[in-house]
Amino acid sequence: MKSHIQNIKIFNKEFYLKRDDLIDKEFSGNKFRKLQYYLDRDFPQIECIVSHGGIQSNMMYSLSCLAKMKNWKFIYYTKNVSQQAIISREGNYFSAKQNGMELYELGADYNNFISTLTPHSNQLFISQGGHQIEAKYGIDILGKELLDWAENNDIVNFNVFLPSGTGTSALYLQQKIKPNIVYTTNCVGGVEYLKKQFFELSSDIQDHPYILQNNKFRFAELNIELLEMYKTLKIQSNVEFDLLYDPVGWHVLLENFEELKSCPTIYIHCGGTLGNRTQLMRYEYFLSKNSY
Ligand SMILES: *Cc1c(COP(=O)(O)O)cnc(C)c1O
Repeated sequence: MKSHIQNIKIFNKEFYLKRDDLIDKEFSGNKFRKLQYYLDRDFPQIECIVSHGGIQSNMMYSLSCLAKMKNWKFIYYTKNVSQQAIISREGNYFSAKQNGMELYELGADYNNFISTLTPHSNQLFISQGGHQIEAKYGIDILGKELLDWAENNDIVNFNVFLPSGTGTSALYLQQKIKPNIVYTTNCVGGVEYLKKQFFELSSDIQDHPYILQNNKFRFAELNIELLEMYKTLKIQSNVEFDLLYDPVGWHVLLENFEELKSCPTIYIHCGGTLGNRTQLMRYEYFLSKNSY
């Protein structure tokens, strides 16, 4: 399985777009890459996936697909389940439940419970967002696709940009495609959080992507500027991007375009558009309460 690369023009600037959002119907984008290790192997002793994180996480939904394909149970721990997640008839939580996810809401006990959790031998534990070495297998394949594409198109040097959550995708991609540079931005925590995430996977700073700082947008917080960016991207490129990572990513990328323009930049579309349904509902409600 392989995704294609197309040209796009955003605010009159040219980019290549790697359509990893289209790579698989079930798993979106980089979650397919991060879980490919498990897809390509048999695990005869495993009967259940155990993981944890946010209630509308793209990884949570993708794990529910993996469990369903493998005929495994899927146990997921989260801190809080929002009212909106419960009532929504679409989006990651709704779809994961349909795939048979067993959910436990832990509230204040969450951190303590997760840090002391010891999986059984028939359980496969996947850390939050798939921040672990197994992700390297699929991200290496993505990196190889980019290197092959550049070679076939006589492109000697290129940049890659993708927005980071756990930073797992950006790090393994940088490891694979150096000396080409992977640029990223911190969507979930601050810059220090992202650096720490990189160090957890590799102590060699040559492997670390270049961070273009995001000091403005906080993860999943509603912001009209981001909604406008999402709409503009759709109009200008005819591509639907996700609402949590991509508008922040494009904002930061465009702001730093001068720094990157000495060679072509490939933007990795990491998928996640299933989560847009619930996020758009939040915006609708937000806009009806506030007049702009
Ligand atoms: C998960 C995700 C990311 C971030 O991937 P990490 O490897 O955790 O940094 C970026 N964009 C989208 C749409 C995602 O779903």
